[in-house]
Amino acid sequence: MKEQHISHIQKQILQAIAEYDDILIFRHVRPDLDAIGSQIGLARMIEATYPDKKVYTHGKDVPWLSELIAPMNPLPSKDFTGKLVIVLDTANTDRLDGNIENINTAACVIKIDHHLPVEAYGQVQWVEPDASSASELIAKLWWNHSHELKMTTEAAYALYAGIVGDTNRFLYDSTGPETMQLAGELMRYPFDHAALHFKLAEITPVERRLIAYTLENAHVSEVGVGMILFTSETLAELQATDEDTSVTLSLVGNIQGVISWGVFVQQSTGSYRCRLRSKGPAINEIAARHEGGGHKLASGANAHDEMEIKEIVKELEDAVLQFKNK
Ligand code: AMP
Repeated sequence: MKEQHISHIQKQILQAIAEYDDILIFRHVRPDLDAIGSQIGLARMIEATYPDKKVYTHGKDVPWLSELIAPMNPLPSKDFTGKLVIVLDTANTDRLDGNIENINTAACVIKIDHHLPVEAYGQVQWVEPDASSASELIAKLWWNHSHELKMTTEAAYALYAGIVGDTNRFLYDSTGPETMQLAGELMRYPFDHAALHFKLAEITPVERRLIAYTLENAHVSEVGVGMILFTSETLAELQATDEDTSVTLSLVGNIQGVISWGVFVQQSTGSYRCRLRSKGPAINEIAARHEGGGHKLASGANAHDEMEIKEIVKELEDAVLQFKNK
């Protein structure tokens, strides 16, 4: 998207926010720091700018995110007529934490996202796959229009947390000069960013067990593909849930020699959630071949059984080999 086009879309978004009295903000299922951070950041800014408007945040509450950022505040009714819906950080409506039929009854739907485009939805769409996070986009909306959108300390904290979450504390290559600049502007607000970093680095007892298991059992192939598998049986032994395994994701990538890697977690259906990451080779097409998608270096997929996991690992190996031979 060209800057001129982005500027035009940003104006349309601000006009819609100014026009509607009731604004409903949605995001994707299995929310992370960026999903909730962008949602709460935008909600708090609209509330501060327009005290008479009603702003609602939709999606299932996740306790640690509710505690760290803020709980959701959904509209109790399912009647969205005459209302504005803004969907953040959600590439396709299948991943939406909300009912698309209800959303389609809204007067206007706006999509703001930083994933590679999967599905075009909404009357207004602002998609920048090069941005580190949806929170960065919301911070940019504010920075480009700070006279039309008021920042608050709570909003700055939520957006900063969202950026920190999706960049893994500014480590990923999606972190650009603009990410740092906007994070710096947010940091001018008096929230405790060091406390946030300490909190995010904290290891709970279940994480300790998962980390120990991963370091013991992760497999790294000669080519440089790392993988760890959590069957339902292993999860039960470790007294861990699917969500808990997130802590192992960067760990596998930190093992010397690993270029691309996957964390495979068995679901109650028997199939496996596949979280794929890479330091260079593109993996989003591999994910797309296995009921998934995502970014070039961070994708998700689904494997029906361990045979399909083997296929995915083989495809990752091929991608790494191709990358090395470039
Ligand atoms: P995750 O490993 O769940 O953090 O996902 C990494 C990235 O891949 C995120 O940006 C997701 O939006 C995307 N992703 C994960 N699972 C899927 C899926 N089943 N379909 C499409 N995209 C996905």
